[in-house]
Order: sequence, then structure tokens, then C-alpha cells
Amino acid sequence: MRAELENKLYAAYPALYAQHTLPMDQTNMCWGFQCGDGWYNLIDRLSFDIAKIIATNEQLDPKLCTVSCVKEKFGGLRFHIGCATEEILKLVSKASEESFKICETCGGEGTERTSEGWIRVICDSCEVASQKKREEERMKLTTKYSEQMELD
Ligand SMILES: [Zn+2]
Repeated sequence: MRAELENKLYAAYPALYAQHTLPMDQTNMCWGFQCGDGWYNLIDRLSFDIAKIIATNEQLDPKLCTVSCVKEKFGGLRFHIGCATEEILKLVSKASEESFKICETCGGEGTERTSEGWIRVICDSCEVASQKKREEERMKLTTKYSEQMELD
């Protein structure tokens, strides 16, 4: 996720994402949100709902209710938080289910696809764009390679 969006989430939920300033031997959050920009709204909504629960439940210690990892894995959203109450777990699994229908690139309606060994949720137009980009990169490499051959 691009830094501008990450910083918006850190600013909106400072307690929840307090771990993002910790070193990498203590948290995964130092790497930021390891997924595409398209999931920003989904993560924002999930963070909002969780922060509300933490704020209203006196049994929960906000210092322990911090997020240690947010990433894409096998196409879906993974979200690890220190205080996993049943209510919070339900929200996390609902968001994870939803992520399989949201394009990770643009946030539009996406479907699960496997491309070059990766499972990704992506929409038709982002898929076309990424194929085009890959093709262009391949062309560039081929050109570079043949230029190199000529030089040698
Ligand atoms: Zn898309």
C-alpha cells in the first residue's frame, strides 16, 4: 500500500497501529500494510469497527489490542491483533471473506485469479493493465538482451 494511505490509517487509529514504529524483530507492522491500495477502504472500516469495540469495552486493554500484521496471503486479507475477542475475530473473518471480492489494485469488484503462481483478487481492467505492463517489461528485457548480444 502506498505511504500516503498507510499514514492516513496510522493517523486515524494511532493506538491500534502503535506497533508500526517497532523494530522488525518485534512486529510485522514495521513493513506497513502489505497489500494493494484497493483494500484501503476495507481495512479502514475494519479498523474503525475494532477501535470502537476497544474504546467501549472496559475489559480490553488498549495497550494489548494492537495490530502486529496486515497482509495479503493466498489472495485474501490477513489481520493479526493482540486481543482477539470473539466479536473482533468475527469482524476480522468477515473482512477477510470480503477481501476475496475486492480488487486489491483499485478497490472495484474483483475475482480471484492465479497469475504466474500468485493468487490475487483483481478486476478485469486491472488484470488487462497488469498484463500489458508485464508484456512491456518483457519486451524491454528482450530488447536489452538482444542489444547486449550485438555488443558482445
Ligand atoms: Zn481493479
